[in-house]
Amino acid sequence: MEGGMDEKVLKMITRFAAVLTALVCVSLHFFPELHMRAVMAAESAGGQERGGTKDAASPKVEAVVREEQGLSAQLKIELPEGLSAEEIAVLNDCMSQTVSIRFAGGVSEYFSEYSIKGRSDHIAALSYYRDGEQGVIVLELDQICEVRSDFRDDSLYMDLLDPREVYEKIVVVDAGHGGRAPGAVKQGVSEKSIDLSVALALKEIVEEEDGGIGVYFTRTDDTNPTLEQRVQLANRLDADLFISIHNNSSANGSFTSTAGTQVLYSESDESEYSSRRFAQICLDRVVEALGSRSIGLLRGDGIYIIRNSSVPVALIEIGFMTNYEELDNLSDPEYQKKAASGIYRAILQAFEEGF
Ligand SMILES: [Zn+2]
Repeated sequence: MEGGMDEKVLKMITRFAAVLTALVCVSLHFFPELHMRAVMAAESAGGQERGGTKDAASPKVEAVVREEQGLSAQLKIELPEGLSAEEIAVLNDCMSQTVSIRFAGGVSEYFSEYSIKGRSDHIAALSYYRDGEQGVIVLELDQICEVRSDFRDDSLYMDLLDPREVYEKIVVVDAGHGGRAPGAVKQGVSEKSIDLSVALALKEIVEEEDGGIGVYFTRTDDTNPTLEQRVQLANRLDADLFISIHNNSSANGSFTSTAGTQVLYSESDESEYSSRRFAQICLDRVVEALGSRSIGLLRGDGIYIIRNSSVPVALIEIGFMTNYEELDNLSDPEYQKKAASGIYRAILQAFEEGF
């Protein structure tokens, strides 16, 4: 309890400073002339390394050139002296559209002591807070970006890129349910964990294959994004494909002999590369990978994320949790991997077909 008061005061000050910083950035963002003046002032001051305390966070130069390599990066983020690369973590959260830069030995003030130089058109706000022994710089983005960063000489050089600059194709994968919404729970097994395990197995395959496909996940842990957040990830990215992973149950939840794979699609999507065609591909490839029974396609516009998807969507019900044998299979990591490889093959086939 000792020092509790001091900590509170410090937290308040930090928060106030963060709000102030965000306000300064937002005002610069909305008043380009002001920003231009800041740029010109900085340039006429002979490229001074640090500006005043309040606008230290404002962008000052168009691009930062790493002279040694002749490469340019959009941002140069100064960090406390003497950190090693292992003491810095960059976390890009596509759901909240924020990039967090965590570093060891957090200072109580960041923007008055260090500067972020360069500019990016994608930064909506900047803030800093201290989290125990770590400092955290938070870049709020105005869109989902891919981050490329490189640490050297006490600075983090960072590029914020539009996903389309990086990937030829973009897929959004949604593991159903999560957090306090477990979905069906049978024999102590929650649907949310099977859905997530399959999504994570798919993530592993995508990373191994490295086929130039950008895959974004609505969740990679036990969280529960809203349905709107899930479908908006696909829509905002203008993804080429949107896949939601679920598992089925009998109508009244009791165990029955019904088993097999089913895929839901949007019947209102009448485009050439339709949700229905993509759902058929998913059904074929998942059934093939699992050796499960095909129960066919089902109209899905009654489901929020299907109805509101502006991109080709398929909601895959991999199997029935209300069938003893299938529940056993679905709980097996090997079976989950097979399901993931079926989904991956479906993605590849869809792209071959022109999606
Ligand atoms: Zn479900």
